[in-house]
Formats: sequence, structure tokens, C-alpha cells
Amino acid sequence: MAAETKAEAKATNAPDRMDIRNLKTRNIGPVILLGPPGAGKGTQAKRVSAITGFPHIASGDIFRAIQREDTPLAHKVRSFYDRGEFVPDELTISLVLARLEEPDAKRGFLLDGFPRTLVQAAALDNALTEEGRKVDVTLYVTAPTEMLVDRIASRIICPNCGAIYNAATNPPRLDNICDKCGHALERRSDEEAETVRTRLEAFNRQTEPLVQYYRERGTLVQIDGTLPMEHVEDLVDRALGLGSRR
Ligand code: ADP
Ligand code: ZN
Repeated sequence: MAAETKAEAKATNAPDRMDIRNLKTRNIGPVILLGPPGAGKGTQAKRVSAITGFPHIASGDIFRAIQREDTPLAHKVRSFYDRGEFVPDELTISLVLARLEEPDAKRGFLLDGFPRTLVQAAALDNALTEEGRKVDVTLYVTAPTEMLVDRIASRIICPNCGAIYNAATNPPRLDNICDKCGHALERRSDEEAETVRTRLEAFNRQTEPLVQYYRERGTLVQIDGTLPMEHVEDLVDRALGLGSRR
């Protein structure tokens, strides 16, 4: 497989190794990852973040962090999150846009799980336009519903560092212990079958229209999330102009 990729890279004259310095000066961010729960957005975002140094900003992670505190805000967020419903736009927008104001996001960022509604997309566009920036690439990662349901059913996460595992296809080295930070792994509180159905419906109804929104803006790149991991990684790297990794 690796040999094949190398040959392919040569054939297309792509650079053998990605030049991270070059990438940083090219300033590819902001990048959006769009797609239903379980498609693999978070996994790709974490990987690209590690390569590029751009922060991976996941709205779901922001909400999970808030819920670890015992505050009125935590209770409010939990009332939506645990039912698989969207947190109201106004609150979501103010939290995510505040995060984008932090210095590490000024060069570029990988936005995962936001925007999820047209109102959120418009708010993001306005905020970026004010700074003379715009969304560069929208990665739309897709997979059929049965596959999403299966993947989510076996997903386990690290509540400490956000690492994502799959009991069937990508288990941690030690049972239930995070490879990266040693914390105990757990299932998410919104991954009961019924809640997952609600989340998938919310995606179809409210987030799917964003595909057309970004297609019209010319930033949309569709990625088939059912392909083997290596192949998905290559497609993502190409879409972001990272060249071949091997
Ligand atoms: P997934 O992509 O697997 O559904 P996330 O971690 O992105 O998972 O989101 C989990 C939950 O967090 C959502 O079901 C919702 O309650 C809340 N949430 C995350 N992002 C948004 C958003 N942009 N707008 C509203 N609610 C959100
Ligand atoms: Zn961890």
C-alpha cells in the first residue's frame, strides 16, 4: 500500500513529503469539517491539527468541557446535549466565536461540528469577513446511515484529552485506558441508540443545507468516509494541499 502511494505521488509529481514550514506560510486555514456524526470528522481534524499546528476546535468538545463544571451553563447545555438536540444558536455562536478570537486561531483553524445551521454559518462568515478572512476549504465527510450507527455504537472517547477510539476497529492498547494520556475511557452520554437517531435527524434537517451553502461558495470538497482510513487521509491531505504523506 505504501509503495503504491509513493508511485502515485511520483506519477502526479506531488512532493514526497509535506513541507510543514511551507504549509504554515501558505496559511490554508480556516477549514471547516462538515458531516454527520460518526463520519470521521473528528479523527481527521485531530490528525491534520497535529501535522499543521492549526488548532482543532470542536464545538462538541467545548460543550463536553462546559458540562464537567457544576454551573447553570453546564445544566443548560446538558439539557440539549443529552437529548441529542442542538444547543441554541445564540449560545453556540458566542462560545465558538470567542474561541476563534484566541491567538492560536489567528493563523488558521480546523472547525469541527460548527457551523451546523445556516444561522451559524452566516455568523461565522460575518466574523471572518470583519477580519478580512474567509473559509478556505469545507471538507464534507459522508457515510451511509447504517455505517454511522454502527460506528457510533462502538465509539469510546477520552474525556480528558478528547482522543477517539473504536472498540472494534481502533481499540486502545490497554483495555479502556487512553493511549495518549492514561485517563479512563468512557462512552459519551449522548450515544444511546435513541439519541443517536435524534442527532442523525438533526443533521439531515438542519446541517445538510450547509452542503449547498458551501458548494455555492466554491469551498466544498466531498470525502467518502467509508473508504479505508489511509485513503481518507490521502483525500483530506490533497484537499488541503498537503501533498502526499508518504
Ligand atoms: P457528533 O458530530 O458526533 O454529533 P459533536 O461532539 O460534534 O458530535 O456534538 C455533540 C452534541 O453537541 C450535539 O448533539 C449538540 O447537542 C452539541 N453541539 C455540537 N456542536 C453544535 C452546534 N454547532 N450547534 C448546536 N449544538 C451543537
Ligand atoms: Zn486521553
